Amino acid sequence: MTRITFYKGLREIGGTFVAVETENAVCMFDFGFAVSGRCDDSVRLRRESIVEDYVRIGMLPAADGIYGEKQAACLGLRPYGQDGKDRFFFISHMHIDHMGGLGMLAEQMPVYMSEDSLRLYRRLAAMDDIQVLAHENCIGIPYGQSFSRGNITVEVLQIDHDVIGASGARITTPDGTIVYTGDYRFHGFHPEATRAFGETCRGADVLITEGVSVSFGDVDMLSLTEPEPNIPTEADLQQEMAAAAREKTGLIVINPYNRNVERIHELIGTFAAAGRTLVMDPVQADYVAEFYPEDPICVYEKTLNGRSVPGNFRVVTLSEILDAPERYVLQLDYQDQYALLDLKEQVSVYYHMDGAPLGSYEESYQKMTSLLEYLGIPYEYKGLGGHARPYFLKWMADTVAPKTLIPLHSFRPEQVNSERAGQRILPSEGQTVVLERGECRLETA
Ligand SMILES: [Zn+2]
Ligand SMILES: [Zn+2]
Repeated sequence: MTRITFYKGLREIGGTFVAVETENAVCMFDFGFAVSGRCDDSVRLRRESIVEDYVRIGMLPAADGIYGEKQAACLGLRPYGQDGKDRFFFISHMHIDHMGGLGMLAEQMPVYMSEDSLRLYRRLAAMDDIQVLAHENCIGIPYGQSFSRGNITVEVLQIDHDVIGASGARITTPDGTIVYTGDYRFHGFHPEATRAFGETCRGADVLITEGVSVSFGDVDMLSLTEPEPNIPTEADLQQEMAAAAREKTGLIVINPYNRNVERIHELIGTFAAAGRTLVMDPVQADYVAEFYPEDPICVYEKTLNGRSVPGNFRVVTLSEILDAPERYVLQLDYQDQYALLDLKEQVSVYYHMDGAPLGSYEESYQKMTSLLEYLGIPYEYKGLGGHARPYFLKWMADTVAPKTLIPLHSFRPEQVNSERAGQRILPSEGQTVVLERGECRLETA
């Protein structure tokens, strides 16, 4: 018998935490922070009890078998390594709501992820761009390959999302096959990977899918027969940026999310073709150089923040930009917003491209836009987001055609539906679904 327990992240966007348990192994995914209205960056973290505090305010799950001895004892939980089962994690991608808690796990816990996710994770840790602690015992698996622990086998499959290294998993136990999508989209650089994911996983017993895009309004998914028109793609965005690079007369500032490394790599070429050099902060530059070592890398002297950079990075000075603003595009993280004070006369436009603060629901968002307004800098939103539109969520469920569909990672998971799914289960927090001979039922207490 396989038990699938749904701890967190069911009716919220973030903090998905599910455990697939057999007689001898437990595969868990993902391990990000739940969105907690009780957490505030203005409150000092208590270094000696970060794990305990995060669990106690609901940012991390109160679960047995995952934390170290000291933390587990304080929380009244069973620590890692004491139930005789082979416990491990699979992490779908490097977004904070899916991986932010990794450093809080017991040190010995094996954590699997795609090879590219691990490459990015190592750089995040090296650049101090990580939540408090880095987890050491991580294992990278190339796309398309699988690994086994106990009687659970996990196949790591590429899926397209707005972060490099994104993957989903096909998990096989003696009782059946469980597919977990992680986050995905069809408007990115690799829609064919998302399609292949669905086709490869056709006929799975269980499909656990994200449902972010049906969170914010009424959607009758079963009535959707074709995609909505004109969904902007990453390719469209590159074209828009090419046009802007040619038409704008001054400096262009962009605020992308630095983990969407492929977008930045493409932008370097797009801007170069339009006669402009993309100048980055050293953290963004590091991620690009890790994955695209052939790219010419330019960093801005005013956002070095005391970091030294490799000799093959070119440092661009403020006076170079002041002399010829029309020849540059500046990538600016929100943390470096005051760099605009030196450049406000030269900036033609500020493009917000999925960087932090992510949206108007974040407190800093109003502050960002109000500073831009004060400086007289035009603001334009040029984000794409990373989540499949509702028609495509249905496409995924229709294509996999699972015996059991389990939507989560959505404010309204009940809006994710498919006529081709045998049944749908909407578990609530803490509930367990039992999988036996390919069939699922909700466990009753
Ligand atoms: Zn994501
Ligand atoms: Zn997510």
